[in-house]
Amino acid sequence: RAKETGRNNYQFYTPAMNERALERLRLEGDLRLALEHDQFELHYQPQVDLRTGRVTGMEALVRWQHPTFGMVAPARFIGLAEETGLIVPIGAWVICAACIQAKAWQDAGLGELRVAVNLSARQFVQKDLAASIASALQQCGLAPHCLEIELTESLIMDDVEHAIGAMRELAALGVHLSVDDFGTGYSSLSYLKRLPIHALKIDQSFVRDIGSDPDDAAIVATIISLAHSLRLQVIAEGVETAEQLEFLRSHGCDAMQGYYFSKPVPAGEFETVVGNNIQIADLPSFK
Ligand code: C2E
Ligand code: MG
Ligand code: MG
Ligand code: MG
Repeated sequence: RAKETGRNNYQFYTPAMNERALERLRLEGDLRLALEHDQFELHYQPQVDLRTGRVTGMEALVRWQHPTFGMVAPARFIGLAEETGLIVPIGAWVICAACIQAKAWQDAGLGELRVAVNLSARQFVQKDLAASIASALQQCGLAPHCLEIELTESLIMDDVEHAIGAMRELAALGVHLSVDDFGTGYSSLSYLKRLPIHALKIDQSFVRDIGSDPDDAAIVATIISLAHSLRLQVIAEGVETAEQLEFLRSHGCDAMQGYYFSKPVPAGEFETVVGNNIQIADLPSFK
């Protein structure tokens, strides 16, 4: 039948399509077993204070160690986990594992580092979210202000009335809240001031061309001053070069995260990375 409807329709039957559909089915089946088989792992990306050059916290990012595909990045399975609802138990595991690790690093003398975890839409509508986070914190003995929950701007704006209520419950526990991928959604400024948040995270798409695209530079500078007018911290994501870092620092950005300082690393490598402070005085403008 494909032949009759023309050449272009052949593409519908390509082996590549079948492979993709099969891979999806396979991943979905495997994802159901991944938690009980202990195949998830957190990598940690340090966040650096731009005034002191010191690491003050880290973002926990999940990876799936698949028995045959190897390391699977979140972009390949978080969507699937969302659709199937598996993100709820996976997300709960992420929060627990991140809190346990942060507490272990504190006990090892690394200081009061704050760990940030990403929250997905399905988790955000769970009625017992605040209660389960409270019990995770209590079980591992981590102070609530050492946990930060990242919510994307679009997730918040999707149902802003629900978001305000749910975020107030979380804030009441004492955990910090931040808006992830800020600038990519459509925040209404009047809502922004009603949200109990501590920080905005500037999306990496604006940071990338900060040095060559005046519009991106203007957007980043505006987000920084907006955050500060609302008495919020501001952290830049995806910082890869000294020039980007210097732009951010000279515009008063509070903190940064990106390959320039470190990629996300397995827990075992984190202690070494924490020791490598950025020498603020070595930045280009000081030369
Ligand atoms: P995100 O929360 O915005 O995390 C930042 C992503 O940017 C991470 O990708 C990180 O590795 C990457 N990144 C950091 N610095 C740089 C840089 O300098 N250059 C470039 N090009 N990229 C950089 P990753 O780990 O692949 O995670 C992708 C997304 O998957 C995250 O975006 C987050 O939305 C989601 N995700 C990761 N872990 C979890 C999780 O535990 N739960 C949920 N719900 N989502 C997660
Ligand atoms: Mg994030
Ligand atoms: Mg982000
Ligand atoms: Mg993102």
